[in-house]
Amino acid sequence: MINYKSVYFYAPHGEETEEIRKELSELFNRLGISTVESDAEADIIASLGGDGAFLQAVRRSNFRDDCVYLGIAIDSARYFYVDFHYQDIKSLEEAFERDDIDVRNYPALEVKVNDNNPSYCLNEFTLRSSIVRTIKMDVYINDFLFEQFNGDGILVSTPTGSTGYNKSIGGAVVDPLIHAMQVTELASVNNNTHRTLGTSFLLNKDRPLTLLIDKNTDYYPVMSLDNEALSVRNTEKVELRMSDKLIKTLKLKNNTFWHKTQRNFL
Ligand code: NAP
Repeated sequence: MINYKSVYFYAPHGEETEEIRKELSELFNRLGISTVESDAEADIIASLGGDGAFLQAVRRSNFRDDCVYLGIAIDSARYFYVDFHYQDIKSLEEAFERDDIDVRNYPALEVKVNDNNPSYCLNEFTLRSSIVRTIKMDVYINDFLFEQFNGDGILVSTPTGSTGYNKSIGGAVVDPLIHAMQVTELASVNNNTHRTLGTSFLLNKDRPLTLLIDKNTDYYPVMSLDNEALSVRNTEKVELRMSDKLIKTLKLKNNTFWHKTQRNFL
């Protein structure tokens, strides 16, 4: 295992998890890893909570690709990004001592709205109208106008995000070893005037997707990046691609994405 020296705890539940944080800090100290107060200095960024806390830890620390993220649950539920449980703190210590830990690289999605700097997501990006009307947009693959969408909106997910919102709206579950983004429709209108593919599709890493929103109506589009809303005035164009950023995540050996998928859904 890489020689980690410092850990930062992201604890969104505040005082509720203070005792847990102290106990974990002592545990890491025994392993020769000291606790730091800033995520920018840490070799390990540990989230305390479920997948939502993990997603926030990655977002708040700006999707660092030069550290590892570690999810530690504070309840007994099973998660996707979070492999370790505070209630089984002994196993966490043993896993570190025995080097029984793998690092997985999860690809992030890059989202560029108008000419703004890019933002990132680990699960998915969504775009929808905030008025009670369908939203129309031209959907380009590379520079090719693929379809003209009319409906509630569009969701673009990463492979690890494919088991989240994407799955609830009928998208496929995608192996995270495939660095592709999945485009899934939110209630598209399909009739003799409007036609879209109607099924999800996957795009390879070197095929960007561009959404050009119809300028004839002001839809006040609402966008989301994982569990956060993205607010941009006058959204006209959104460019999406799988980025080169890989989010390194510590996970137990023999606990693959497909073990988790089976455990959570079957
Ligand atoms: P939340 O609204 O508190 O939780 C939404 C649910 O999504 C939770 O049950 C959460 O599981 C689960 N989840 C999150 N990431 C997942 C993943 N990669 N695979 C499988 N399940 C996942 O929000 P949150 O916990 O902060 O998570 C944000 C995510 O919620 C979004 O990125 C989106 O994927 C998902 N979401 C789903 C729907 C839907 O299915 N209709 C709607 C909105 C958002 P845990 O409880 O195990 O953490």
